Amino acid sequence: MKTVHVNTGRPYDILIARGLLSRTGEFARQLTDAKRVVIVTDSHVAPLYAQKVRDSLTAAGFDVAVHIFPAGEAQKHLDTIADIYRTLADFGMTRKDLIVALGGGVCGDMAGFAAATYLRGIDFMQLPTSLLAQVDSSVGGKTGVDLPQGKNLVGAFHQPVAVLIDPDTLGTLPENFLTDGMGEVIKYGCIKDAAFFAYLEKHDAFACMEDVIETCVSIKRDVVSRDERERGERMLLNFGHTLGHAIEKLLDFSGISHGMAVAVGMVMMARAGEANGLTDAGTAARIAALCRQYGLPTQTDFSASQLAAAARSDKKTAGDSINVVLLTKIGDSFTKKIEIAELQEFIQGTSKNIGLFRGALH
Ligand code: MG
Repeated sequence: MKTVHVNTGRPYDILIARGLLSRTGEFARQLTDAKRVVIVTDSHVAPLYAQKVRDSLTAAGFDVAVHIFPAGEAQKHLDTIADIYRTLADFGMTRKDLIVALGGGVCGDMAGFAAATYLRGIDFMQLPTSLLAQVDSSVGGKTGVDLPQGKNLVGAFHQPVAVLIDPDTLGTLPENFLTDGMGEVIKYGCIKDAAFFAYLEKHDAFACMEDVIETCVSIKRDVVSRDERERGERMLLNFGHTLGHAIEKLLDFSGISHGMAVAVGMVMMARAGEANGLTDAGTAARIAALCRQYGLPTQTDFSASQLAAAARSDKKTAGDSINVVLLTKIGDSFTKKIEIAELQEFIQGTSKNIGLFRGALH
C-alpha cells in the first residue's frame, strides 16, 4: 500500500491500494468514534460498489445508511444538498458521526460540502472512484456546488479524515472517464514536474496507474500543504482552468468533460504564453502532443472574445483583473495578473498568429 501524508491544518492520510474499498470499515474504525455512517453516492456508482462498502462498514460495527442521488454534474446544486441533509437528519446523524463520499468528483464535492455544513461540520472520508477524483478533487479539502451562474460558486474548505484510493475502480470506468482524468494528470507534469511529464510521454500511464496516482497526489499534497486556502501557490493547480472553465460554461457544463476542457485550456495558455514571450517556444506543441497521445482534445472553435466573456464570471476573477497560470517551460509555472479587458487580447494574439482556433492544432 502507498501512503501519502497530507499535513494541512488537520492532517490526514491518502491510502492507495487495490481492493481498498472492501477495507473501508477497518480504516474508518481506526479514525473515528462514529456510531453511524451515511454513504453518499450516485446512481452510476451505487450498483457497482455501495454494497461492498456498506458490508465493510457494517462488519466494523457501524450503523450504515446509503444516500443515492442521480449521477451527473447537472445534479451538483443546492437541492441535492438539501436531499442529503434530509437523509442525515432522518438517520439521526450527530456531530460524531461520519459521511463517506463514494464516487467521482461531483459526489466528493457535494458529500464534502454536506459534511462541512451539517451541524456546522462533521467528519467525512473520500472514496474516489474516477481517475479525476483520485488524482485531483479528492485531495485538498475543497467542497461545494455549482450555481446557474458558474461552477463551484458556493462551497467550503473541509478536509477529509482520510482518502482511500482503490485503483481497481478504474477498470470499470468507461474509457472517456479515464481520458478525462488524464487532463489533470498531464497538468501536474506541466506545472511542477518535467520528469513526470517525460515519463507520461514514454510510458502508457494506464499500465502503471498506482505510480501515476501517487505522483499526482504527492504534487497536489505539496502544493496544498503550503497554501491550503489558495492565497498563492495553490493557484498553480488552476493551469488550463481559466479557459477550460470558460469552455465548459459556454457548453452549459454538459458538452465537454472537465479534463478535456482543461486540456484545451492548457494548450491555449501555453500558446498564449509563447506568443507573449513568457513561455519557451515549443512548450504548447509538446503539451498538445501529450494530450493527443491520451485522447484529449487540444482546440476549440469558440472565439477569444467568447472565451474572455465567459472567463469574466469565473470565481477566480478579482475585480477588474484575473489571475492566469502560465508556464516558463514544462515543469515550471507562475501566476500572472491580467486585466480582464486585456484577456481577450492576451489569448487572441495566438489565434491571429497561428490560427489556434481553427485547426492549427489537432
Ligand atoms: Mg480541475
